[in-house]
Amino acid sequence: MPRPWSIELWRLTLTLAPAWLVGALLDRTGLLIACGLAGLLAWHGVQLFRLTRWLQESGREPPEVGGAWSQIVDAIVRSRKAARKRKQTLSNTLARFRESAAAMPDAVIILGPHGEIEWLNNAATVMLGLRARQDSGRRLTDLTRHPTFAAYLAAGDYREPVEFPSPVDEHLRLSARVVPYGRNQRLMTVRDVTRLHRLEAMRRDFVANVSHELRTPLTVITGYLETFSDDPYVQSSDSVARTVQQMEEQAERMRRLIEDLLTLSRLETTSETADEVRAVSVASLVADIETEARVLARAQGNAIRTECDAALWLKGNAKELYSAFLNLVSNAIRYSPGGGDIILRWYGDDEGAHFAVQDHGLGIEPQHIPRITERFYRVDKDRSRASGGTGLGLAIVKHVLQRHSGRLRVESIPGRGSTFTCDFPPVRMVQRAAGVKVVSA
Ligand code: ADP
Repeated sequence: MPRPWSIELWRLTLTLAPAWLVGALLDRTGLLIACGLAGLLAWHGVQLFRLTRWLQESGREPPEVGGAWSQIVDAIVRSRKAARKRKQTLSNTLARFRESAAAMPDAVIILGPHGEIEWLNNAATVMLGLRARQDSGRRLTDLTRHPTFAAYLAAGDYREPVEFPSPVDEHLRLSARVVPYGRNQRLMTVRDVTRLHRLEAMRRDFVANVSHELRTPLTVITGYLETFSDDPYVQSSDSVARTVQQMEEQAERMRRLIEDLLTLSRLETTSETADEVRAVSVASLVADIETEARVLARAQGNAIRTECDAALWLKGNAKELYSAFLNLVSNAIRYSPGGGDIILRWYGDDEGAHFAVQDHGLGIEPQHIPRITERFYRVDKDRSRASGGTGLGLAIVKHVLQRHSGRLRVESIPGRGSTFTCDFPPVRMVQRAAGVKVVSA
């Protein structure tokens, strides 16, 4: 038995035994035992009083208590010591974190559950013009009002960073990233990406200018080649005719490359303007694409089928959507040399609207799938060139989808075929007349 408890037992015995003995002598056993117990209770009451007074008044020395009470006081003293040590370690860690975060070149802001500023470092003051004292507790969106930034913060999808101009200096370009943590708290870091932004703009301008400059000489060369091919001298010699024909084919390839490069840089440099965005009848768009693709498909022996919900329209830019969808359909034909069926589907569900192109062609090995939307990435360079590919088709598709808040999904089994699906969010969907299925074969 622990020592304090054996003392308590002795205390009880030494109180009750004399009470019982004297009581037996005086013939008042009950009364004297009751008196003994009352005395004991009073003593415990005094111990309890000392303990509670000590607990309530911080900074006092531990009370002088006896028996089991001393064990309780010792345990409390020990746990208070341990808590103090933990608190000290924690506040040291916090101080170190704050010091290092304050010294960081990137802005760091801690946001509370309602988007209110809980803490920020010096860089946040420089980049966003926020003041640690005055702005603490205010909502960040009331202070940094750029619409792109406000929409990003409200949307709650923080997988990608967002770029916006600094409210302090519009020439500064900032990139913000948010990490949710704890109970509805968010850690936001903001980097100055002005240099990167300028380099990126220079790269885009360079590609656009070079493509544009190449267009004119190429038009002249193509014109001469057309004249040559009609020339009786060229037609009289098979080898010269073949050479001119190859030159024409290569000039045509170059023209397609330039057109694709210009399309890409247009998609990168311009933003979606309201007057170009309207409800588009995707079923009609698909019908036009089908007509255009049929010629190519027939030459290769592919059959095209469509299954479209004609009542489902999409908010977007018809020209861009046409170019993206045509790229997918043309790929499906070019990479299905065996002549398999190609199915185009346009449908909606709870997750949004979807345009899917399914082929029964070559398929793609899984390791290539994450990279096929990169510019000039080809699984098989020779096949891509031989079938008239520029290596830019899927990069165009990806950009068009990004501008329509959409994503490209690729499912493929090598040797069996692929399905490329464009997913659009429900906000882009427009329901017109009652659901009509446009099916063609
Ligand atoms: P390309 O002009 O070379 O077709 P894309 O950007 O359109 O360029 O496509 C990139 C690569 O992805 C292609 O080179 C090809 O290897 C692969 N690919 C695209 N679509 C398909 C498809 N439907 N089936 C098999 N492979 C495909």
